[in-house]
Amino acid sequence: MTNKNLYEILKGGFPASDQAPALETAKGFVYRYGDLERESARYANLFVSRGLVPGDRVVVQVEKSPQALFLYLGCLRAGVVFVPLNSAYQRKELAYFIGDAEPRIVVCDPAAEAELTAIAAELGGATVLTLDEEGQGSASASAASMSDHFETVHREDDDLAAILYTSGTTGRSKGAMLTHLNLASNARTLHAYWGFVPGDVLLHVLPIFHAHGLFVACHCALLNGSLMLWQPRFDVDAVMRLLPRATVFMGVPTLYTRLLDQPGFGRETCANIRLFVSGSAPLLAETHRSFSERTGHAILERYGMTETVMLTSNPYDGERRAGTVGYPLPGVSVRIMDNDEKPLPKGEVGHVQVKGPNVFPGYWRMPDKTAEEFTADGFFRTGDLGMIDDRDYIILVGRSKDLIITGGYNVYPKEIESFIDDLEGVKESAVIGLPHPDFGEAVAAVVVREAGATLDEPTVIGRLKGEVANFKVPKKVFFVDELPRNTMGKVQKNVLRDQYSKAEAGNQ
Ligand code: AMP
Repeated sequence: MTNKNLYEILKGGFPASDQAPALETAKGFVYRYGDLERESARYANLFVSRGLVPGDRVVVQVEKSPQALFLYLGCLRAGVVFVPLNSAYQRKELAYFIGDAEPRIVVCDPAAEAELTAIAAELGGATVLTLDEEGQGSASASAASMSDHFETVHREDDDLAAILYTSGTTGRSKGAMLTHLNLASNARTLHAYWGFVPGDVLLHVLPIFHAHGLFVACHCALLNGSLMLWQPRFDVDAVMRLLPRATVFMGVPTLYTRLLDQPGFGRETCANIRLFVSGSAPLLAETHRSFSERTGHAILERYGMTETVMLTSNPYDGERRAGTVGYPLPGVSVRIMDNDEKPLPKGEVGHVQVKGPNVFPGYWRMPDKTAEEFTADGFFRTGDLGMIDDRDYIILVGRSKDLIITGGYNVYPKEIESFIDDLEGVKESAVIGLPHPDFGEAVAAVVVREAGATLDEPTVIGRLKGEVANFKVPKKVFFVDELPRNTMGKVQKNVLRDQYSKAEAGNQ
């Protein structure tokens, strides 16, 4: 029987020579494919030596380093479930994740060791090991004493490879269980769809506690036997310096706007690039256009989520339409449904539901929540609202929980944001619903002005009045220097709603 372990599948793409470079760090140190194989074996042996068996969990909250990637691959090889956590999470959140995942081992930054040891002691007594951003700590020290050979554990399609906690902007964060098949099928699909070729070099700047940096970026590169220019984070100067050596770059929209802010950024910087990919948050059509004018490259926008890995993508060959997330990936079904679960025709906005080998089997230890999120015929309710356009491209209009219902009418924030973004003097905007005594919710806009612009509330409201129905026109416009964003570049509308509903309540 073939081994369905994701590591074996990725390994199928490793170069013939174990001397081929796999990772080059910011300091110029090179790890080769042979190192990747040996180092991941040491971590796998470490887990086995500590008594872990396939299916046990390892919770990991560390800074990005090559060793953090080896640790992930070691988990896959030993059949233990990798549970990465955002490095920003604090004590209360960590206690929740450890209590929920019940790991046998927790790997954390040395600075958090005392706190995590206390939490782990209270909650089941997991062993705590450390790893810092230089790859130093008790985890790597213990791994170093292990054998560098490991027979990768046999796994079936449905065995768990990872649990990723959703960002949880409402309610409790849920652990999305991802199987070896979910990740392997998606890796193969993306690798083929995005035309990876021998010699591709990926500039890797994203965090690896999230699906985008770990599953999309690393899996494509590993499956291609590619070199990754491994940066601890997005540093605009380093990216400007390294882009000429890369052929593929993956980023969230804010990274693209930050590149565009660089006066020296242009065709020359991108001369060697084959593909720019964007996702995790909407890429403004304006950014897409400016990028293509400056560099000659049409950014390829794709859509996915923690629970499903990647779902849709603009075509590699063919028109990459700004403001759309492209077509369903091969093997993925996407449908748009109304509130009564009836399919909607093209051009109408409804709930996005999806099915495919990439879609997770459910939330960790939450059977009721899982049952709620799947339809009777096995489609997952993404919680996104969208439509299919006349040429079958999918357009997202926002999360259903961000939909504003004012006086019984639906307002899709993205529609109003696009109008506001087009006004002179506007850099970007976020449209939210605030509690209103008569309308239930009132439309409000939070606007970031271009430097030096003097746009004010009456102007924004006045300009929109002629453009959209009155119920869609914001009743209030707030100006800010910056929109609150999470690490993946998503605007945190819940933060804006909290802040401005409190401010408004105080004014009433
Ligand atoms: P996460 O689980 O953190 O990856 O977040 C998934 C959510 O991010 C999706 O459900 C979408 O709401 C949003 N998202 C991801 N990619 C895009 C995109 N290209 N355009 C708009 N929203 C996106």
